[in-house]
Amino acid sequence: MKVLKGISVSSGIAKGKVCLYSNEVDESLPHYQIKDKHIPKELNRLDEARIAARTEMDEMAQLAERQLDKEARDIFNAYLAFLNDKGLYKKISGLIKKRKINAEHAVNDVFEEYIKIFQAKDSHFNEMINDFVDIRNRLIGAFNLTSGKFKCTTGETEPVIVVSERLTPSMVLNIQKENVLAFVTEHGGFTNHATILARSYGVPNIYGIDIADNLDCGMEIIVDGSMGKVIVSPDEKTGNYYDRKIETFEQKKKYCLIKKDHEPKTKEGMRIKLKLNISILEELNAIEDMPYDGIGLLRTEFLFVRRDDAPSEEEQYEMYKNILQTDPEKPVSIRLLDIGLDKMPEYFKLIEEMAHEIELRGAVAVEVFPDIYINQVKALLRAGAGMTNLQVLYPMVSDLHDLETFRNIFKKARKILRQEKVEFYDGNIKEGVMIETPSAVMMVEELLEEVDFINIGSNDLLQYSMAAFRGESMVEDRYHILHPTLVKMMEIITKAGRKAGKEVCLCGEIAFFEEFYPLFLQMGLRSFSVAVTKFNDIKCELMNLNIPKNEDMLKDFYKIHSKEKIREYFIEKI
Ligand code: PEP
Ligand code: MG
Repeated sequence: MKVLKGISVSSGIAKGKVCLYSNEVDESLPHYQIKDKHIPKELNRLDEARIAARTEMDEMAQLAERQLDKEARDIFNAYLAFLNDKGLYKKISGLIKKRKINAEHAVNDVFEEYIKIFQAKDSHFNEMINDFVDIRNRLIGAFNLTSGKFKCTTGETEPVIVVSERLTPSMVLNIQKENVLAFVTEHGGFTNHATILARSYGVPNIYGIDIADNLDCGMEIIVDGSMGKVIVSPDEKTGNYYDRKIETFEQKKKYCLIKKDHEPKTKEGMRIKLKLNISILEELNAIEDMPYDGIGLLRTEFLFVRRDDAPSEEEQYEMYKNILQTDPEKPVSIRLLDIGLDKMPEYFKLIEEMAHEIELRGAVAVEVFPDIYINQVKALLRAGAGMTNLQVLYPMVSDLHDLETFRNIFKKARKILRQEKVEFYDGNIKEGVMIETPSAVMMVEELLEEVDFINIGSNDLLQYSMAAFRGESMVEDRYHILHPTLVKMMEIITKAGRKAGKEVCLCGEIAFFEEFYPLFLQMGLRSFSVAVTKFNDIKCELMNLNIPKNEDMLKDFYKIHSKEKIREYFIEKI
């Protein structure tokens, strides 16, 4: 028996046989030089392949909508737009002409170049790499070559654990849902397109696993999506343990399906607030029937990235208005722009050295780019006119000075709006701060005196406490999602919030793990904000839980000092 540790992006347990899936372009991809007189013929082949790939992509978009939802369809529509991009076509045809090479060779080289550029950046761009791999494979596939396939025949006919270097959206959709027991990959991420699709299959999904040295077609493995581990050739005791877990899990799922419309309560009837994190607009399409308690974190970054200039006040106004109107009865915490080094658009870049000297985030970014924030706040205030559900959330607030910086932007924006004589929300807006630096934890009581609620941003809080960059360090020991330091800080924040009688909402990714909820409830947390795709799982977990009575649970937990022991603690003690 061998235990491989990775990072879970979707929980659940699966037991079954490995089937490897290869995303690599077939080694037989023809590479040859062409003569000048053959250039028009190659350009023609490229045209034909593009048309075929577009038709196929269009079909995939429709299939995605039929089998999954609109969000899935939009992923393929985005691919279509990329395939239609004139710049891409110019680049490939330019290469055919300049280097006098065959069309599929040129397609591959252009995409390899994109992939290399994004590989050189931080892991935040992994998502883009997956997209490039997928589009490249589609386009090359359209030249009637093979790209992307199972390496064992069982994958086509029976349920298997799909093991691959990475997932791509087309690959996920091409595999029959009934035939997937789990996904295990080497590269991945919480938010990439393929992960979003794979989550909708409702199976465990783990990345960060060294595949080449450990897994092969036909091997018997267990995928523990809750603990982020893959167990190869389990012994009898472990196998039996997981059989029992799978049975309990299935029973729980059935029970939760019946109670789908019920509001989130623990077994003993304690009402828990369960809100949603919205990071891309499309997520709003899936929330209509959910019994959620509001939007706990609207990441406005999605409006600012992947474009050449900042969105206008008007564009933002329309967007915020629509979001607030999704359900006017439910609070929406709109976070002001939180641009970090990992998500900084071009127009925001300072000279290189400066960007590396400082983390251009939160209040620092406000001081450097006040106009961008004034515009955003003006749009927000206008969108809030006539509404009662607008709440504002300040990112990366470390002390009272930072809070003041954000508040000054509101003062300035209101003054301008008055001069412009436009309608806007002129009352007291509920204000919250993200607690995501150790300094904010130390200042939490003072901050609580000033604001209406706080959100715990555990993703950043962990990286700033452990000096471990969240992007690169996900698989390293220091950026360990349930590090006792983080839990201890969360306990301090929660206690301070309860003393002040103000809401403390946990909205970092740590809240996506069902198995940690006994600990969260024990420390007194009663409000959570999770990804749309995790809402049902978390609600289900809460409905099956009693608030633990063990007073020493946290004390015991803080004494554990190894990552492995923490995992065991969650398996055995809770
Ligand atoms: C966090 O840091 O935990 C958080 C929720 O904010 P983001 O992930 O957007 O930085
Ligand atoms: Mg953060």
